[in-house]
Amino acid sequence: MAEIDDIICVTCPQGCLLKVKHEGNQVLEVLESGCKRGREYAICELQDPRRMVASTVRVTGGLHPLVPVYTRSAFPKPLIPKLAQELRQVELTAPVKITQVVLKDVLGTGIDVVASRDMPEKKL
Ligand code: SF4
Repeated sequence: MAEIDDIICVTCPQGCLLKVKHEGNQVLEVLESGCKRGREYAICELQDPRRMVASTVRVTGGLHPLVPVYTRSAFPKPLIPKLAQELRQVELTAPVKITQVVLKDVLGTGIDVVASRDMPEKKL
């Protein structure tokens, strides 16, 4: 049976409210779509929802104990809790370079997690 759901598009800061008619994850019609990108977002959100993920991982011997990391591309939403578990296991050794791969092909998604800043060694 078809349903109509509201989805807030997060593709840009405008944050349009979209109305999507669907049966399960099969999109029948995007009734109010804001713009073309909003329509694509609504379809993706029902069929393969993804999010960019930013977090931190531990660093040994660094200027700070943590370094920020992010997924190189939007990550499957249902796998984000498992990604968080994987990140908790990571312990890098300083120095860390920006865009250094921290986890490669996480959970077989083909998506890498990389450092978003340099983390130099702590000077004694
Ligand atoms: S529908 Fe278009 S204008 Fe609205 S938030 Fe999405 S990308 Fe931005």
